[in-house]
Parts: sequence; C-alpha cells; structure tokens
Amino acid sequence: MSARADRKPNLKDFSPATLRERFATEGLPAWRADQVASWLYGRAVEDPHAMTDLPAELRDALATRFETRALEVATVERSSDGTLKAALTTHDGAVLEAVAIPEEDRTTLCVSTQIGCPLACSFCATGTLGLDRNLSAAEIVDQLCRMRELLGERRITNVVFMGMGEPLLNLPAVVEAIRTLLHPKGFAMAPRRVTVSTSGVVPRIGELLAAVPVNLAVSLHATTDAVRDVLVPLNKRFPLAVLLDALRKIPQLSRRHPVFVEYTLMEGVNDSVEDARRLVALLRGLPAKVNVIPMNAHRDAPYRPPSPEVASRFMGELVKGGLVATLRRSRGADIDAACGQLAARGARSGAPAA
Ligand code: SAH
Ligand code: SF4
Repeated sequence: MSARADRKPNLKDFSPATLRERFATEGLPAWRADQVASWLYGRAVEDPHAMTDLPAELRDALATRFETRALEVATVERSSDGTLKAALTTHDGAVLEAVAIPEEDRTTLCVSTQIGCPLACSFCATGTLGLDRNLSAAEIVDQLCRMRELLGERRITNVVFMGMGEPLLNLPAVVEAIRTLLHPKGFAMAPRRVTVSTSGVVPRIGELLAAVPVNLAVSLHATTDAVRDVLVPLNKRFPLAVLLDALRKIPQLSRRHPVFVEYTLMEGVNDSVEDARRLVALLRGLPAKVNVIPMNAHRDAPYRPPSPEVASRFMGELVKGGLVATLRRSRGADIDAACGQLAARGARSGAPAA
C-alpha cells in the first residue's frame, strides 16, 4: 500500500463521467475527456502520446501526470474446456486472478475486487488468504483490458464480480469501475450483463443498487444459521433472517430483475431434502433465481461435491417447491479457475508458493 501512495494517479481510476468532471475543473471541455475514454476503452490505446486527436500539449500533460496501465499479465492458463485464467500483477507486486469463460453465445469475465478476502468462508480458497488490500478502480477495469487482449477476437459480453474478494467491502472502487463498464464511452455494457456477488454485507447492498443498476447475486449456501455460521462467518453479523429481510425490502428487485441466489452444494453439509425444503420456504415471496453450484473441491477446504444423484434430488425439491433453479456446471476446474478456487498462489510475486 505504501508503494502506491507515491504513484501518479491512473486515468482508469476515473469513469468517463468522473473524467469529464475532472477535466472541467482544469478548464478542459467534456468532449476532451470523452476522447480520452474512447482511446482507453473503445480503441484499447493506453499511451497518451498515441491519442492523435488530442492537442500535443494535452497528450504531454496526460503522459506526465497520469498512469494508464494498472496490471501486467504474469501467467495465462487455458483449461480443456476453453476457460482462460490469468494471474495479473499490480504495481506493488500483488497478484490477482481473472477468469474468462467462453460459451456458445457469450464470454463471461469473472473479476476480482480484492487481493485475498477478509471474510474467511470455510469452503473458499480465497478466504484462506486473508485480506491483503482492496483493488483500485483502475485495477478492476484493467482486468477487462488485459483479458480482452488475451481473448483476441472473442468479445467480453458479461462481467461477474465473483473472483477474489468481497465486492461490497470495496464499494467505492467497485462502483466507479462498474460506471466505466456501463458508460457509452467506456465498455458500453448493458447493466444486466454485469452481476455483483456478495456474501451478504447487508448495509451495502442497497447502496450498490442505488448507485448502479446491475444484477445482484447473494451467496446463501445454507438454510440454517448454525450451518451458515460455519460456511460464511459473516452470517454471525448478518444472519439469514436479517439478510433475507433486507433483500425483501430492496425496491430494485422484481420478477423481471430477481436476485440470483448462489448455493454451493457440499456433501453431507447442505445437500439434504430438508435443506432444499427450507430453501424454498426461506425464499418464498422473494423474486429470486437459484444457482446451485456443486462444490469445487480444493486443498484448502474439507468439503466435497455431492453425487449427481443427490444433486438432482436437491434440484427436484427446489423445482417442486416452485423455485426457478439451475444446476451450474463448473468451468475451468482443471486449472483451479472455478468458483472459489482462486488463490493466486504466492499472492505476492517473489514470495514462495504456499
Ligand atoms: N465474495 C463474493 C464474491 C466472490 S466468491 C461472494 O462470496 O459472493 C464467488 C462465488 O463463488 C460465491 O458464490 C462463493 O460462495 C462461491 N464459492 C466460493 N468457494 C467455492 C467453491 N469452493 N466451490 C464453489 N463455489 C464457491
Ligand atoms: Fe470472500 Fe466470497 Fe470467498 Fe467468502 S466466498 S471468502 S466472501 S471471496
């Protein structure tokens, strides 16, 4: 962190709208800011000297006063199913991971928001790292910039904030980065193609949705406080009833825009018929879609996915109870790129692998 304090600000820390405001305080017209944003995001040009429609003086000033790159690619791994995982390094030597998941009709990018995570969910590899630091908006946005270079022809169509870290514990940077994703002079993404996942930081959920009209995903994973306290320790501060009550009061949620409830299925922990029935009861009256994800096993957690039979029995109960539920298949597990497997081994470059 101290290494960052004496660095120049990064142009990607400012969404196109914020950049306009900043340019205005310097007496520059808004369209100059739009030109800069178009170069950075539309044309993927990062060197201000190459922004040829800017006056030479402004190009020099931008190059002197700002940085424009926040991340460098350290390693890239490709899974047998086409999933691409990149380890990306920050200026201060921290490492984070971003994952691109190509499907027939879309390519989803899973971005990180923190180096590590302070919430220590017992089934999540990132949780074992603890929190190193928050990512800046530029470091979040640059995950798209670097990954789009690696993806070549394939366009990133969807972004999910489901990589390393808890987005709502880094809300200002996450919101500013999302504004760049959505802005016409930024990545011009439709808000419904962006999803932010939270483990349930209740007081910040309304704040996020009031700031940016993205999809919300909530990591539930359990139907009793006793089990959720173990899986998601944050549950001790915001128990199930508090979380679900808060979700019921969020005005942005509707049948057209439901909350996505994430439920990682773990053998013998939360996969019983009773669990399924309790989940149906808990979600009654809430516009929700349930994504059930069999646990991605890894060496840092004692949990395993249930058998396909148990998983389909669980799904059957949800559907019987009237829930809209999908069983997700894992992508990229062979390169530790699946949900909850991101740990950026040796989280600081140069450090020995754990
Ligand atoms: N911190 C946020 C977003 C990052 S985690 C959150 O917890 O929601 C993204 C998703 O992966 C969450 O739903 C999380 O619970 C899930 N996850 C974590 N570890 C997993 C694992 N080992 N197998 C399957 N899903 C996992
Ligand atoms: Fe953090 Fe999400 Fe992992 Fe929990 S599941 S430790 S909140 S990244």
